[in-house]
Amino acid sequence: MDDAREQGESTTVAVTDTEAAVDSPGASASVLLIEDEPGIVDFVRRGLEAEGFAVEAVLDGLEGERLALKGECDAIVLDLMLPGRSGLEILEGVRRVLPSLPVIVLTARAEIEDRVEGLEAGAVDYLVKPFSMAELVARVRAQLRVVAHASTSTLAAEGIEVDLLSRKVRRAGQQIPLSTTEFELLVYLLRHHGQVVSREQILSSVWGYEHDPATNVVDVYVGYLRRKLGGPGEPAPIHTVRAVGYRLGSAG
Ligand code: CA
Repeated sequence: MDDAREQGESTTVAVTDTEAAVDSPGASASVLLIEDEPGIVDFVRRGLEAEGFAVEAVLDGLEGERLALKGECDAIVLDLMLPGRSGLEILEGVRRVLPSLPVIVLTARAEIEDRVEGLEAGAVDYLVKPFSMAELVARVRAQLRVVAHASTSTLAAEGIEVDLLSRKVRRAGQQIPLSTTEFELLVYLLRHHGQVVSREQILSSVWGYEHDPATNVVDVYVGYLRRKLGGPGEPAPIHTVRAVGYRLGSAG
């Protein structure tokens, strides 16, 4: 307990590099980093700041949860194993109160195998440690882009509209009923609109764990989605990228 309290100090660092802020699409977006490993805090903070983000770092779960639920940041980068409050507990609270706030979960490979309900819902993306800075920046940007281009509770691309709160899906104005897993898969593809995502990324983000890589569950569910979203003469805009995975929409 004392350890947790000792680590619970938080630090705030404002962006000072105005050039980076002007040049970067992440300009002045603020990221709340909840992570108790000082080395990772340092790495992530320096990397995100270099890209023009304002970063507030918290080493303790309780304080992290308090700040997260204030909803004053644009995105959260969240470690799972934290003193005070686990990342999953924080994630559940954030999902309840701020369902469209982007959260990027940092996880050890072993942790992601424990499938947890809380990991399934909402604007959640995963990054398995060790990750590269470029990867993290790309994920944060992608999540922020989605939020910026949609109202706070909807995702839209390629004529497909998803309401994250009511979980209703429409294409060309027509409501399309989806199962929970189909819905999560569609949200994941929409959040990575125009990007190629691998089967492994989809598996860990949508299903919450790493299956046997030989599993075809992703392909099966992409098939379901295509059938439900596609219409006569208007196939679903989910493209197969050979030997890699899938892409919703055209490359961009
Ligand atoms: Ca940790």
